[in-house]
Amino acid sequence: MKSEFDVIIVGSGPAGLGAAFSLLAANPACRLLILDRNQYSSGGLRNDCKMNFSWPIGFADTVWTEVQAKRYLNQIETFLKPAILEKHDIDTYRRRADRLGVTLLEIRQAHLGTDGGLELIKTLCARLTALGAELALGEEAIAIDAQARRLTTNRRELSYDDLLLAPGRAGFAFLQSVMKTNGINYVDNSIDVGIRVELREERYPIVQDYYDPKFLFHKKTRTFCTNSRCAHVVQEKYQDNAGVWYSVNGHAWSDKHPANGLANFAMLKTVGLTQPLASGQAYARALGEQAMLLGGGHPIMQRVGDFRLGRRSTQDGFCGDLYDFEPSLPSCVPGDLGLAVPAKIMRALWDSLKLLDTIVPGVLHPSTIMYYPEIKTYANKPVFEDPASFRAIPHLYLAGDGAGTSRGITGAWASGIRVAEAITTLKN
Ligand SMILES: Cc1cc2nc3c(=O)[nH]c(=O)nc-3n(C[C@H](O)[C@H](O)[C@H](O)COP(=O)(O)OP(=O)(O)OC[C@H]3O[C@@H](n4cnc5c(N)ncnc54)[C@H](O)[C@@H]3O)c2cc1C
Repeated sequence: MKSEFDVIIVGSGPAGLGAAFSLLAANPACRLLILDRNQYSSGGLRNDCKMNFSWPIGFADTVWTEVQAKRYLNQIETFLKPAILEKHDIDTYRRRADRLGVTLLEIRQAHLGTDGGLELIKTLCARLTALGAELALGEEAIAIDAQARRLTTNRRELSYDDLLLAPGRAGFAFLQSVMKTNGINYVDNSIDVGIRVELREERYPIVQDYYDPKFLFHKKTRTFCTNSRCAHVVQEKYQDNAGVWYSVNGHAWSDKHPANGLANFAMLKTVGLTQPLASGQAYARALGEQAMLLGGGHPIMQRVGDFRLGRRSTQDGFCGDLYDFEPSLPSCVPGDLGLAVPAKIMRALWDSLKLLDTIVPGVLHPSTIMYYPEIKTYANKPVFEDPASFRAIPHLYLAGDGAGTSRGITGAWASGIRVAEAITTLKN
């Protein structure tokens, strides 16, 4: 019996979109369904939307080569036509970094802002519909019977020839249950743990010359996701059967919004876990829960001035005098990072901040706020039957951040194209 769809894609994030446009370009008659449990595509496309067009930003180098990634990056740039941001006067910063053994990566980047990202999502969804794809928003994939090639959603049962699961990091539990029920092995042993740093933009002036400066420090620590002009710290909810915890993050609105004078960036350390604890997700949850315990159910924040003196920040003393700006995420609870962050991680983060303060003096002004936790789980790394196409078992492909094939918008988009090309080749 003929299946209802040639291809079903679960997840309308960049991985799903990259696959969808590529499939339709190769075969305009492709019967394609894209499902998303949200009413809009989620993730980085709708949060700040900084798109990086340089290797290795956003790519997992375990499953990509530079040559492969660059080929897809060119395709994506041609398709999306982003306005690449200019960089100015960064030689001084680079020289200072070099002297300290720190690397300042120069990358091609576009920035749409959260409002610009939402506009882009709407445009892309309209284009997909016009090309004949069926878009089912607000519909959640629940289970898969890979043998029978049937997908169960919260609304119906569907049959397919090929299925791409691209549910992002937030779809971790769903992906894990699919892998368990369909005999796909995976490991989950890597995680980034860090803080979100918020400061007055004038104390991190490099952002006026380079929107999202990427510094790589010793001890696997790096700056990540810098936001400025109209920048805010936000929190993300993580929920599973064991409970709820929050990670902080950051975003900025586009130039259409008035500036708020603040900048923020993450300082992250990559942690690789080995036996007997080899689950990054479990470790992330434990760290998150510990922070929630200390913050009464909220992330915690501490001024650098208090941290240096080894004392907790308090609600009463959080603003005033040298502490000369209000936090953009006031729901966080003033506290003591030293009680929450494991010592090895805190030392690496603080050493890196001191180096950064030598490169861009001002970062460690007493008013600077450190929010914790900011945790990035890289979800599951499936054992692929065909790593070249991210095929896990016959007719089932896993891609994007949730499957550990990417760590950013463009890497996820490229992962989707890689799957689509394989499906197209096999069908012809
Ligand atoms: C707050 C925030 C800001 C970020 N900012 C940036 C940035 O500026 N630049 C950058 O490069 N990266 C950024 N990222 C990372 C970026 O979002 C991801 O790398 C990228 O979106 C991953 O793409 P994806 O397609 O794998 O997953 P996602 O974009 O997460 O998309 C997955 C989609 O699957 C849907 N889904 C999940 N489970 C199911 C299910 N069971 N059934 C149906 N649908 C489901 C979700 O609703 C979601 O829309 C940010 C992430 C966050 C959270």
